[in-house]
Amino acid sequence: MTAGCAYSKLFGLEKGVVKGDKCLKCGSKAEILLPYGPQKFCEKHFLELIEHRFKKTIRAYSLVKKGDKIAVGYSGGKDSTLALLLLKKFFSETNPITAILIDEGIPGYRNEALKVAKKNCKAWKIPFKEFSLKKEFGFTMKQIAALLEKHPELNLGSPCTFCGTLRRSILNRAARQLKADSLATGHNLDDETQSILMNVCDNDWRRFPRSGAKTGLIERKGFVQRIKPLCEIPEREVFYYIQFAGLESYTGECCPFSEEAKRNDYRALLNQLEEKYPGTKYSLWQFYNRLKPKLAESELAAKLRVKINKCKKCGEPSAGEKCEACAKIEMLKKLGKAKR
Ligand code: SF4
Ligand SMILES: [Zn+2]
Ligand SMILES: [Zn+2]
Repeated sequence: MTAGCAYSKLFGLEKGVVKGDKCLKCGSKAEILLPYGPQKFCEKHFLELIEHRFKKTIRAYSLVKKGDKIAVGYSGGKDSTLALLLLKKFFSETNPITAILIDEGIPGYRNEALKVAKKNCKAWKIPFKEFSLKKEFGFTMKQIAALLEKHPELNLGSPCTFCGTLRRSILNRAARQLKADSLATGHNLDDETQSILMNVCDNDWRRFPRSGAKTGLIERKGFVQRIKPLCEIPEREVFYYIQFAGLESYTGECCPFSEEAKRNDYRALLNQLEEKYPGTKYSLWQFYNRLKPKLAESELAAKLRVKINKCKKCGEPSAGEKCEACAKIEMLKKLGKAKR
């Protein structure tokens, strides 16, 4: 998971406007071009557009019901900062909101991002709960990455695979403990379309339903429903909302363990296509959303409807005796003891 680091490496940040361009809404100086429109907006009307799209997404996919308790996975990065801010702005009067902060134990990166996260939570009067990988599982990501590096011959996967599994487990447990009806994350349109395309190209039907405004095809006991209220907002526009609104989010170093080479290739590919054929990302997203309800009626949904047990170790929902997180931790403990 990135936390809004090194934006310029991720995508073109040109505002796309030239001298004399006018805002479509009010005729004042335009500050940003949205090429797929194509439309140009001043700062004020751009912010309004993003907020309108956020609310439209929530309505279109029924992401929030009045009174629902919402937990928000908050890293301090630009995406989760925007998700948290907009949920607070439009729903905090009717819906209790709590932020969940997870320290993966990545010095110089997550600790810095979490400082921003706590500062924003305090300023916005949003209650937050802090968790750490070390406390929950006995390892920091720094220790895990060192163990994986020591044993390349075992081919156990990247640090991100471990980090993602362990963090998902903590988020779900924390959201359940909070009795949250949903768990919101900051995934934007770019994140979603990258995952969709990657899963298609990998023929990964099991992960394919994880994309979408609501994760999964069916409700599964013990899993708090994940929602992604920024799923129709491109990453570039999240960045400019944060800039124009003068919000603070983490912009420091990227995670030193990031091994997202494959995702970066898909990011670059989709950005190239978007530049040449504006609207490509949104078209792919819409295609996916037309397909997903059909998947819910398919053989795949039946396959996913396996009996869910409780993990014998941690009590989290699991298809087998042990959940994926506990299985990974057990393996790390064995590795920790092994001599090279
Ligand atoms: S290890 Fe990977 S998933 Fe975890 S914070 Fe770093 S980049 Fe994100
Ligand atoms: Zn305007
Ligand atoms: Zn477990």
